[in-house]
Amino acid sequence: MKQISTFGLSSYRISDLQLLRNSDDDAAVAKMLAHCPIMQVEADEAVAESGRARLYILLRGALSVTNDTRTGMADGTVSKILPGESVGEQSVLDEETNLAHITALEQSEVLVVEADLVWQLIDESNVLARNLLRLLSFRIRAANAQLRRRQKLGEFYRQLSMIDGLTGLYNRAWLNDLLPTMVATAHGSNAPLALIMIDLDHFKKFNDSHGHVAGDEALRAAAQVLSGALRPTDFAVRYGGEEMMVLLPDTSDKVAVSVAERLCERMRQAKVFGDMRQPLPHITASFGVAVLQPQQSEQDLIQAADAALYRAKENGRNQVAA
Ligand code: GH3
Ligand code: MG
Ligand code: MG
Repeated sequence: MKQISTFGLSSYRISDLQLLRNSDDDAAVAKMLAHCPIMQVEADEAVAESGRARLYILLRGALSVTNDTRTGMADGTVSKILPGESVGEQSVLDEETNLAHITALEQSEVLVVEADLVWQLIDESNVLARNLLRLLSFRIRAANAQLRRRQKLGEFYRQLSMIDGLTGLYNRAWLNDLLPTMVATAHGSNAPLALIMIDLDHFKKFNDSHGHVAGDEALRAAAQVLSGALRPTDFAVRYGGEEMMVLLPDTSDKVAVSVAERLCERMRQAKVFGDMRQPLPHITASFGVAVLQPQQSEQDLIQAADAALYRAKENGRNQVAA
């Protein structure tokens, strides 16, 4: 049961309270705090309904503070408050409602200081004001560090979600994100942008003859051919099942065709091993090359490369068409 009662001064020492540490006049501070109620809280019980701007100083026990997601800053962060530490000082200072959820981790005693009194204490004690500044500055630093960690983590997962797990090439999500920009850049700067669409030949048969695991190995080998043969400014994407794509910024159709020829040759030579390291038959692929035309959208460009790829297949596969 929560119970609010006034406590005698003897039950806690001012010097044990983080905010009041090194106070120049403990007696004066003690007098001001004398009428602050002390809450007795059982384990798992809420210390405060969120809303009221008050300072809570823990005298005994342990508290868990969960920042509300609405604060936008250190959202959802849980921190542990130990005896002598406080919570709620920020909401007192900025007169915003306290959005944190405070619960007791064990049986605890909490000194409750109303906002008005906190301001009186600040007026009264330079030391308290100093301690408060130091504490807030520490909290801001911690929140910033947390934010940076989260941003990094977010970026990591974003990148992870842009990479195809099997081949390590960029995936369709990456393409949807980046191709419109690449097309716009190419149009804006009048620089050519080439796209090579690649499809493995008779890959269904390869899977049927050697199994899906061997098929996956062949796909990895094909992806390696692409990523190993490109300039740092080029991008290789897994477009779908066994269809891949290479994007070549600043590349004319003539150069793009020669790149495709080189990739086609390396594909023929690539070694594929099964899961027991047994050598498997070589794979081949067909290549369709297109270069961005004035007014073309990214969809038009993909369609043009697709049409070229279809011609390469029609002409007998294992070759390049433009
Ligand atoms: P074509 O020369 O006309 O391209 O013939 P194909 O058999 O390669 O063409 P089709 O599109 O009919 O078949 C593609 C096959 O690729 C179907 C599927 O078995 C295989 N495939 C697609 N994605 C994967 C994958 O992730 N792993 C494996 N092992 N096979 C895949
Ligand atoms: Mg296909
Ligand atoms: Mg195919």
